[in-house]
Amino acid sequence: MIRYSVVVPVYNEESVVEECYRQLKEVMDATNEPYELIFVNDGSRDATADIVGNLCANDECVKLINFSRNFGHQTAITAGMDFSTGQAVVVIDADLQDPPAVILQMIEKWKEGYDVVYGKREKRKGESLFKKATAKMFYRLLAAMTSVDIPVDAGDFRLIDRKVCDVMSRLTEKNRYVRGLVSWTGFRQTAVSYVREERFAGETKYPLRKMLRFAMDGITTFSYKPLKISTYIGFILAFFSFVYLIVVLCLRLFTDVTVAGWASILAVLLISNGVVLMMLGIIGEYIGRIYDETKNRPLYIVRETIGFSEDTKDEK
Ligand code: UDP
Ligand code: MG
Repeated sequence: MIRYSVVVPVYNEESVVEECYRQLKEVMDATNEPYELIFVNDGSRDATADIVGNLCANDECVKLINFSRNFGHQTAITAGMDFSTGQAVVVIDADLQDPPAVILQMIEKWKEGYDVVYGKREKRKGESLFKKATAKMFYRLLAAMTSVDIPVDAGDFRLIDRKVCDVMSRLTEKNRYVRGLVSWTGFRQTAVSYVREERFAGETKYPLRKMLRFAMDGITTFSYKPLKISTYIGFILAFFSFVYLIVVLCLRLFTDVTVAGWASILAVLLISNGVVLMMLGIIGEYIGRIYDETKNRPLYIVRETIGFSEDTKDEK
């Protein structure tokens, strides 16, 4: 029976995946318990799949899930969890930014009885100031917006118990913010601090565009606050407009003062149009996600799996 499953999402990681395997193997061998390493190839266009395929051929601990195309990091993690069979499931990035040795500390905590042990980033090396600052802000903004206890400065590097993993598999929402969902399940969680290293090789697969989308997913799936804030802003704007209208009317009716012309009108118009469009955008973000849910397409499509005992699961 498999004790530990390690889930590694990989997307164009040919330059790191072998080293990642080597280090993970070293750490997991130290546990002296049976384990599996599940690589989820998220539609890589380089040699990643071949390299992992070779690893599978030489080491029966290694398993590979090949997606039919790129479905995204969060989906890849989800698939890995779905296919895992270990009593504890560890999710870790392939680029060795999350040091594999920390897994042993996580296992310790798990044995103490915690169901979720997440890695808390004390420090982040080799990432741009912009990324660090926006990440820091985002985690705090999300924490302020939601009542779910989502830890700040923690990524997806974590260990979860089998029962949490099983609950996660029942959550079928499409635009997933996995770390939030794990907290949402409400099991006992604790942290292990670590220093996030530089990428071993290769480049980040999270350009600004993907980061923004990811942040939006986090906020929209865990909070209605942006909608509420839109409503408040609407009321405040309407209130001040009304007061201003009265003032202008009084000036016109009871004094000789001429109210200044088109510049002020244009300014008010542009501001209010901007605000309205922004609010429409916010509503759109939610509607788009509702649309994704109603289509009810599978979360991911698996092209092939290698190394699993019964290759029956092909999609979810
Ligand atoms: N990843 C993935 N699919 C994607 C983007 C990323 O499976 O569409 C994987 C990637 O291979 C890596 C992990 O997700 O193992 C984290 O990505 P990355 O290191 O590029 O993100 P960063 O650490 O820069 O935020
Ligand atoms: Mg990384």
